[in-house]
Parts: sequence; C-alpha cells; structure tokens
Amino acid sequence: MATILVVEDEPRLRRIIADYLSAKGFAVIEAGDGLAAVKKAQQLQPDLAVLDIMLPGLDGLSAARRIREHSSVPIIMLTAKGAEEDKLKGFEAGTDDYMVKPFSLRELEARIAVALRRGGSGSTSGGQSRNSWSHLGFTVDENSQQIWQNSRELPVTSLQYRLLHLLMSRPGMVFSRSRIIDHLSSDLYEGLERTVDAHVKNIRKIIEHDPSRPRYLLTRRGGGYYFARE
Ligand code: CA
Repeated sequence: MATILVVEDEPRLRRIIADYLSAKGFAVIEAGDGLAAVKKAQQLQPDLAVLDIMLPGLDGLSAARRIREHSSVPIIMLTAKGAEEDKLKGFEAGTDDYMVKPFSLRELEARIAVALRRGGSGSTSGGQSRNSWSHLGFTVDENSQQIWQNSRELPVTSLQYRLLHLLMSRPGMVFSRSRIIDHLSSDLYEGLERTVDAHVKNIRKIIEHDPSRPRYLLTRRGGGYYFARE
C-alpha cells in the first residue's frame, strides 16, 4: 500500500482528496502548511506527495525545494488556473507533474498511479529485460531507476532519471527539446521548451562539478542536448 502525503491548506478540499485516496486503498498523511509538509515528508517518507502551491507561511514551491534536499519522492503540485509560470517554477523546484484546479479526483488518481509506477520500486511494469550499465563514471540501473556517479547515488527525480537515461543511452547523439518533451511523455506535459531547459539545469547541478561549464550533459547550440562520449 502506497502512502500519499496530501498538502493543502483548505480543510474541505484536503478532506475530499484524503477521503478519495483512502477509499482507493492508499494510506494518506495530511499537512495543512508548507512547514508541516517538509517535516512529514522527512519523518514519514511517503511514496508520493500532492502539494498545493498556494500555502500559508512556507509556500508550496519552497516546500518542494526543501523536500528535494532530502528526497526524490514524486511530487504532484496543485496550481491555480492560469498560473502558467507556476508550472515552470514548480519544475525548477523539482516537482514531477502538476494539476490545475479545479481537477477531477479520478485524473489525480491516474496521475498518482503513473508517478508511482515511474518513481516507485514496485515491479508493476511489464517484463522488459532491463539491466545496468556504465558510461564515463556513471552507472545506470534500469531496474531500480537509480544512477550513481563514481559510486555516489544521485538524488534524481523520476523525471530527471528518464531525461538522463535518454541522453546517456546514446552518447554523442543530439536530442532536440521537442524530441525530449515527446520522450518525457507528452500526455502529461505541455510542450514548454523552457521546461526542458529547467530540467537540464537541475540535472547539471546534481552531476556537474561546475554546472556553468558542463562536461557531461552538453548543449548543442540551436540543436538540443546530448551526453558526452568517452
Ligand atoms: Ca491553497
């Protein structure tokens, strides 16, 4: 049974989400503000967090950043209608997906299922042969979806994993932003090319010694991104 952290300051909405997810068989933890969210994410280690952006005190974006310091738990953020900038800021803060209010609970449930499949350790996805391989000091384990850099496990989110996996599996090959967006499942993301740049920036902070002068995840001007060859 997966545990979901539901962070929402409006008690009625929080109650509705929590009740729905409980009825669907999830264990639900609730938090009504950003600080409580960070604390509970750390102490109780949920399998996924649903995080409202507009929160009193510590807002949702700051909370996401704080959670990301310790955890790669999938985060689905809840944004207000029309707040396009929130999505980009959310991805920059390390969130994995978003829902625009008002949303349907069934859609939220579907996205939770997708995020858990991607980020989780469960063996739900069908039996393709998967393995682990190394390149330039990085080791990728496709089973656990983990990446190590010189035996240090990288704190990448499931989305960052998929982006890195795409580039690392074909070193030297340039992927355009639109192709990267396609790969990162266009059903969930609007095709914001700046979104790709935000993910790349975050990954560079994790894997590059000097993110402003990357050695591994490289830019082809006017083309896209690629991973260094030997
Ligand atoms: Ca709110």
